[in-house]
Amino acid sequence: MVEIETIKRVAADVGFDLCGVAECRPFDAERAFFGQWLANGFGSSLDYLARNTDKRFDTARLVEGAKSVAVCALSYKNDFGNGYPAECRTKIASYACAKDYHDVIKAMLRQMATALKAIYPSLSGRAFTDSAPILEKRYAVEAGLGWIGRQSLLVTPRFGTFVLIGELVLCEECDRYDEPLRTVGCGTCRRCVDACPNGAIKERHIDTSRCISCATIERGGADIPLHGWIFGCDECQSVCPYNKHAERSKSRALEPLFNPLERGADEWLAMTATEFAQKMSATPLSRSGLERIQANVRRNKKL
Ligand code: SF4
Ligand code: SF4
Repeated sequence: MVEIETIKRVAADVGFDLCGVAECRPFDAERAFFGQWLANGFGSSLDYLARNTDKRFDTARLVEGAKSVAVCALSYKNDFGNGYPAECRTKIASYACAKDYHDVIKAMLRQMATALKAIYPSLSGRAFTDSAPILEKRYAVEAGLGWIGRQSLLVTPRFGTFVLIGELVLCEECDRYDEPLRTVGCGTCRRCVDACPNGAIKERHIDTSRCISCATIERGGADIPLHGWIFGCDECQSVCPYNKHAERSKSRALEPLFNPLERGADEWLAMTATEFAQKMSATPLSRSGLERIQANVRRNKKL
């Protein structure tokens, strides 16, 4: 039996801004909704979403013996999440101006696992961040970190949507579990829905075939207007009232590594592979690659 307060203390010690713990359980209603979402074509060409559905909706199939999920969040709010000048045609999602969060969060979760193992030597489990079939946002809601906003992102009262989340799936029960928040939410607000330039936001889910973030990062962006974005898109986050009042990130690991306003279309198109590797290899832009980013720049220049 693991004490929930010990997990939370260790999470705070390694630098996480939020931590909640949920009981591991299958998500049958979400599985049914997801099947319908895919059948409606909202997954577009993101084929990986249709794989591993057994594991995605039942974490015990992903991690044998899983009992508890510690969901941890780190704020990444920086200057670039507030929006870009209207004329900017080389917009980059604010999280992508810093070190790749996969590396940052994974390292923190490993530190956390090591600290917990020192207290509970028989404890086993696995760490994940946006790289495995697990319902991260759903668990975050169960663990009381926030709620799912209309744009389908996790909204937290203190840090808004500018949070990165990761999980420690533990093969041990906790003395108690957190509960979902009861008193906050989107209310009548629809700012993110109205702000989406491509009408991609449905009620708490996304039509990925219309989403600029998916198009610029995962599909090449050849089929929908990109509205000046060349990697990701923050339009539906910049307008969220919870983000306007959110605390800025205190994480040194997530301080911006470059200023996206200092490099325009011509600079991006003149960039060589060597320069890209030197300047961007630590950032999420490297996952997309220079060629795709330059194709997005050219597409924005034509509009
Ligand atoms: S990321 Fe951009 S395109 Fe995608 S839903 Fe949000 S506002 Fe719309
Ligand atoms: S912009 Fe409004 S509707 Fe959208 S997530 Fe934020 S609070 Fe909810």
